[in-house]
Amino acid sequence: MLDEVTNTSKLFDQARERLSLAAEYLTIDPDVLQKLRYPKETLSVCLLVRMDDGSRRSFKAFRCRYDDTRGPTKGGIRYHPAVNIDEVMTLAFLMTFKCAVANLPYGGAKGGISVDANQLSRSELERLSRAYVKAFAHFIGPERDIPAPDMYTNSMVMGWMADEYSAMVGQPSPAVITGKPLELGGSLGREDATGRGGYLALRHLESDLHLVPEKSRVILQGFGNVAYHCARLLHGDGYKIVGVSDSRGAIYDPDGMDPIAIMEHKRSVGTVSGAPTNGTCKEMDNSELLEQDCDVLIPAALEGAITNQNAHKIVAKIIVELANGPVAPEADEILDKKGIIVIPDILANCGGVTVSYFEWVQNKAGFYWDLEEIHRRLESIIVPETRHVWSIKTEKQVDMRTAAYILALDRISSAIAAHGTKDYFAS
Ligand code: NAD
Repeated sequence: MLDEVTNTSKLFDQARERLSLAAEYLTIDPDVLQKLRYPKETLSVCLLVRMDDGSRRSFKAFRCRYDDTRGPTKGGIRYHPAVNIDEVMTLAFLMTFKCAVANLPYGGAKGGISVDANQLSRSELERLSRAYVKAFAHFIGPERDIPAPDMYTNSMVMGWMADEYSAMVGQPSPAVITGKPLELGGSLGREDATGRGGYLALRHLESDLHLVPEKSRVILQGFGNVAYHCARLLHGDGYKIVGVSDSRGAIYDPDGMDPIAIMEHKRSVGTVSGAPTNGTCKEMDNSELLEQDCDVLIPAALEGAITNQNAHKIVAKIIVELANGPVAPEADEILDKKGIIVIPDILANCGGVTVSYFEWVQNKAGFYWDLEEIHRRLESIIVPETRHVWSIKTEKQVDMRTAAYILALDRISSAIAAHGTKDYFAS
């Protein structure tokens, strides 16, 4: 069923259900829910790009600013063939709540281009990225909407985009985008920020979750940037990494493995399969890995990894959502009934946007912090906000996801109220 106003379907509607659930626990003005029901603005354009062979190709591109009540909007730009307006709106919605959970002075946004970036040459990719900025220059801005990398975009793409924007406005404008190369005003500590944030949240909850590092076995799905850094930090503190996977396969060894050695192997051969471990390693299908025996399961690949098809087979006691939306809404209930605690994406992976915020602050101040300062400030946000969510969970007897949405909704709703009633009188 398509929504009559936004023309959206299941994905977006499912995201909004989580908002309705949280609203049941708060006394919220109905106006607030009405405001958050639809994105503030969404722009869809067609980018015409000259290819290396002289031909021109068109690409669909999107940007959604979901809500800017708490500040300029913030969110990544994704390059993927499956990017569509529904996905962009859903991820912008998620960003709105993620920024509020971390208490950053931001609203939420997201953007994307429907493209298989692997099929483009480097110069085609640069022209496409610059075309995106030209098309959305009036929509983004250091005080309006600040993009960042997402799937298949990286610091190189952010560097091109910052350069294009600066050329258009006639002055250096590093604060328009985050995730830039260090040479162009990027921040130290951005690379491992998302994995580190998840690690800090889990470690902070150890006694509540009855976890003892030396006795806790961890499986990570999607051994890329985020999972690797989280695994490295947990392993360094005594956790046993027993399984990892990527798009090409999975390995499981109950005797454990060293994530640094696994990453060296992946970098040399392109997959975790065949990597050295401490005992008898079993190779398996990446979906099979999710169902193996462990204490902590960390999905860090794609949306919808755990659905009603496999949720009942999960044996982990705790799930840390480092990916966005890896647990489908219909799986939440099954996991909850099994007593599995899910540390939700809007809390578990907010370390990334938090250090992006630090980058923006440093760009605006023109003063750059050392790594120690970044780590200290990240911890000073993740630890109290994790405690905040846990306290709401305990007090209201809800799961952690609902608790995180309650915290975020409460903050957004207070900000909406603080803006006053100008619009009411004007109309
Ligand atoms: P990445 O590209 O470095 O790693 C992703 C990994 O997932 C790759 O190793 C890939 O092979 C693997 N993968 C893909 N399909 C898989 C499958 N079906 N089964 C198992 N593995 C599979 O990406 P990343 O930066 O580590 O991001 C991972 C996830 O975290 C994404 O969902 C992203 O949206 C989310 N996230 C990232 C950040 C960030 O700062 N990078 C912030 C918030 C959320």
